[in-house]
Amino acid sequence: MHDHNRAGWVLREVFGHPQFRPGQREIVDHLIAGGDAFVLMPTGGGKSLCYQIPALVRPGTGVVVSPLISLMKNQVDGLRQAGVRADVFNSSLEHHQRSDVLRRLGRGEIDLLYVSPERLMMDGFLEMLAGLPLSLFAIDEAHCVSQWGHDFRPEYVELGRLKERLPEVPVAAFTATADEQTRADVISRLNLQSASVFVAGFDRPNIRYHVVDKRRPAQQLRRFVEARRGQAGIVYCLSRRRTEQVAAGLAQAGIAAAPYHAGLDSGERERVQDAFDRDELEVVVATVAFGLGIDKPNVRYVVHYDVPKSLESYYQETGRAGRDGLPADVLLLYSPGDLMLVRSLVEQGENPDQVRIDLHKLQAMAGYAEGLTCRRRALLGYFGEAREYDCGNCDTCLDPPEWYDATEDARKALSCVYRLGQRFGLNQVIDVLRGADTERVRELRHDALSTYGIGAGKSRDEWRDLLRQLIHRGYLRQDVGNYSVLKLTPLARPVLAGDVTLTLASPRKALHIPGGKGGSRSKGSKGSKTGAALDGLDSEDQSLFGSLRALRTRLAGEQGLPAYMIFNDATLLEMIERRPATAAELLEVNGVGRKKLEAYGDAFLELIGA
Ligand code: ADP
Ligand code: ZN
Repeated sequence: MHDHNRAGWVLREVFGHPQFRPGQREIVDHLIAGGDAFVLMPTGGGKSLCYQIPALVRPGTGVVVSPLISLMKNQVDGLRQAGVRADVFNSSLEHHQRSDVLRRLGRGEIDLLYVSPERLMMDGFLEMLAGLPLSLFAIDEAHCVSQWGHDFRPEYVELGRLKERLPEVPVAAFTATADEQTRADVISRLNLQSASVFVAGFDRPNIRYHVVDKRRPAQQLRRFVEARRGQAGIVYCLSRRRTEQVAAGLAQAGIAAAPYHAGLDSGERERVQDAFDRDELEVVVATVAFGLGIDKPNVRYVVHYDVPKSLESYYQETGRAGRDGLPADVLLLYSPGDLMLVRSLVEQGENPDQVRIDLHKLQAMAGYAEGLTCRRRALLGYFGEAREYDCGNCDTCLDPPEWYDATEDARKALSCVYRLGQRFGLNQVIDVLRGADTERVRELRHDALSTYGIGAGKSRDEWRDLLRQLIHRGYLRQDVGNYSVLKLTPLARPVLAGDVTLTLASPRKALHIPGGKGGSRSKGSKGSKTGAALDGLDSEDQSLFGSLRALRTRLAGEQGLPAYMIFNDATLLEMIERRPATAAELLEVNGVGRKKLEAYGDAFLELIGA
């Protein structure tokens, strides 16, 4: 068979997928033909198949470098389920297991070998491999080689020698890290200057983005999670202490939640990750330390309890939702106060260049959170992917702000800032506008100002919202280096002079937390359980879904594996939709390959037919 067709055959027979996803085919063909590749693909885009299929089609063993032992084990377990001869070789193996792997490697009985970078580059190991037929080297999470990225691993640096030492073996590097600088650094450090570069789009259409003003966040989070009971979610916080508080709060509400951060010992971290993988934990409340190892395809939501430091981190972290392609929700609880806190932390940095870059990134993050246009367009735009249309699947698209002529209100606010000598912060400006009778107002004689009380008709929240929009649009500047006092910018002058009109968004009346299945969702949206997909199920289908899940859990439990390794949610939902009655029909279902059909087909067919 021609190699091109063989790739399609492997995709169907081994992995059970009828088609390649966008971008996969080109990469697979290029690697099969022996080329080097640098591949940038979003999390959940389907990177693994891009090297697994060429490794199976080309003669010899494919060597996969991966940064975490748990990640390797997961991949190998998954591949073995599909009948692929895969193994790990790392420090977790006992001596006899190692000799066993080496023996089979020598006999050509291993198609995919997952190794740690330090092991691969260890004296003698690469020399030993050099004597064997090798199909390719795949470097997963390749951004770990770069100090610019967020996961730098010194062991990765040595991988630059691969291309020199074994120039004839194709090298493919994979990452989901979008940032330009990191990208260039990875290519140069791995000596992949002549590799073809493949960039898949950054869009994750199944993720629905929400940003909500952060107020009483513990309650907001609880409402969000309670609307999604029985589903898996990750909550990101900025500090270790906070992860513990938040997890405890959820646990108190009867939700199976646990904290995860770098201060926990590795045994505890592994337990949390395992329990999450096995659907025993619903929610992991984590710092950024919870990242690389997450392979779980059915994470249905990601919440940012605190504002992330950059859109890159936000994109990475939200990207862990919905890898299976089913609908997923992400929620950012945003407060400008948090932003200020992060900013002051960033400003304490030692290296002025780094501080400047970090502040710039933080500013972009704030722009996204405070923006009133399509989130997806804003996000993709930041990564250089221009879009013509609004997405229809984010909070601003689904529940667009109402605009009104805010010229008069803006003039009141701006002149109040002016009357206060541009020496006071948001709260004092609001107090004066509303005519508040506070000690500070009396002491400073602000009650004698002409703007005192001219805005009594609006609530604090309404004024805060308006002032924030004025800051966001550049009419006001918040001097963060100086107690965050508000100052006018040149843009304010024509507004004050009455030369221009200003249209602003009305504040949202209620801070609505996006509901889950059965919860109230914004108009025009479908709702989500395992997303809209599950919402469409009638009660009979719901109960079949429950039984299929139970069967999957039992089969997985017998082998000590996470349930999704048998079949993931998307595959189960397709079974419900198609109701296969024969083995041939079951094989048509996305995610059912030859080997899994043999192992589990009868059990599933019986349940579906019952
Ligand atoms: P990444 O490593 O890019 O985050 P994975 O390789 O783990 O993503 O793939 C994410 C999910 O997409 C997996 O559940 C995988 O089974 C699924 N997938 C990948 N390629 C395809 C395809 N061509 N058709 C259907 N599902 C696919
Ligand atoms: Zn949108």
